[in-house]
Amino acid sequence: MTTTAHTPATTALRQAERLARDSFAARADGYDRDAVFPADDFADLFAAGLLAAAVPTDYGGLGLGPQQRETLPLWQLTTLLAGADLSLARCWEGHANSLVLIDALGSAEQKRRWFGGVVERGEIWAAWSGEPRAPKPGEVPRFGTTVAAADGGWVLHGTKAFATSATGARWAILLVDRAGPGGARHSPGTSDGVLLLACDLGDPTVTVDTSWWNPGGMRATASHAVRFDGTFLPYDRLIGEPGSYLAGYWQCAFVPHYAASFLGAAEAAYRYALGYLKHQGKSGDPYVQQRVGRMAVNIDTARLWLRHVAALWDEGRLEEARIAGSQARHLIEHLAEETVHHCIRACGARSLIRPSPVERILRDLTFYQRHDNDDHILATIGRAALGESYDPAFHRL
Ligand SMILES: Cc1cc2nc3c(=O)[nH]c(=O)nc-3n(C[C@H](O)[C@H](O)[C@H](O)COP(=O)(O)OP(=O)(O)OC[C@H]3O[C@@H](n4cnc5c(N)ncnc54)[C@H](O)[C@@H]3O)c2cc1C
Repeated sequence: MTTTAHTPATTALRQAERLARDSFAARADGYDRDAVFPADDFADLFAAGLLAAAVPTDYGGLGLGPQQRETLPLWQLTTLLAGADLSLARCWEGHANSLVLIDALGSAEQKRRWFGGVVERGEIWAAWSGEPRAPKPGEVPRFGTTVAAADGGWVLHGTKAFATSATGARWAILLVDRAGPGGARHSPGTSDGVLLLACDLGDPTVTVDTSWWNPGGMRATASHAVRFDGTFLPYDRLIGEPGSYLAGYWQCAFVPHYAASFLGAAEAAYRYALGYLKHQGKSGDPYVQQRVGRMAVNIDTARLWLRHVAALWDEGRLEEARIAGSQARHLIEHLAEETVHHCIRACGARSLIRPSPVERILRDLTFYQRHDNDDHILATIGRAALGESYDPAFHRL
């Protein structure tokens, strides 16, 4: 006989599963149509004690995530949320990843202050780097920030794009580059120019431009353009040393976390397909069986990869964890995409008509996969295999 241990992590996963099934899945369509931040979902997560999942237990949280060497439960939680609403999962990842960064790099005083805000007041965090520099055809260059030293801190000017949770978060970790616009992702080197600065989004110099964000998918992430007009960020808002985000390859801790969300999309499509096909009495069809079989293998493969990468993090095998995280990210993107397409091909056109969630899952997944460039990720994996030098965190060519 097997027994299931009742740990804080298993309890949290059961609660998240219940919330995702009973509340979040039902709200997803409305948030998507209105392209608004899933505020009620976050209120439920706070009420259930889940908002502090990635806060260490010493500070009143559940102690999940790579920094606490309890990686898999955090990613499984994300997969559950993504199975209900991929946009919710993206907002959740931004929040959880921020807490992991504060845990890893923050001072004791910063942890006390900011973890307290999450545990006691339900404060939501985001992490914003995005400053795409190359304008689209017909677009005037408009994204980019400059940060200048000032008495007692720094002053920030300019605009960031893709600022997930812009209308829901209370705090954002801003990744800014003293070398000039481009955030961290397009920083020209591994210098100590990139700073992580915690910004109180209630500051009147911070404004959200809601006119830009009208995407085909991931609409409820509310990833608006955010403008900083001389925002003062005092020294005590600096998280870690200048450059420590790049030097510590911290993006690598978050790359497989995106894959955990992609898996949630695949699981949701799979669940939908099973219900749909059984309802239509098509279980005996050999082509349907092939597609369902493939979906089942895809999902188990993705789960096994995430388990493998999480174990590497928990065992402190960081170099292996970093490249394995990219491998998982690459593979699971394709497994999830294929699973959604098998669902659509097996079920047919009506599976893409609302209120079916599949059309939203297809839109969301297609859009979300653009968060990182799979070609660059694969080239990074190839360079590592060939013994070439590679940057595991930002997939530069
Ligand atoms: C749903 C969603 C939510 C997001 N949320 C956040 C967030 O909360 N915080 C955050 O910081 N970012 C976030 N991002 C932004 C993301 O990190 C990227 O900055 C954004 O996707 C870049 O937009 P783009 O693909 O149009 O731009 P581009 O940077 O123009 O990229 C377009 C393509 O060109 C490639 N490319 C870029 N530079 C070069 C080059 N020099 N040579 C050749 N190819 C190049 C890219 O790899 C990509 O394939 C989010 C993105 C998405 C889709």
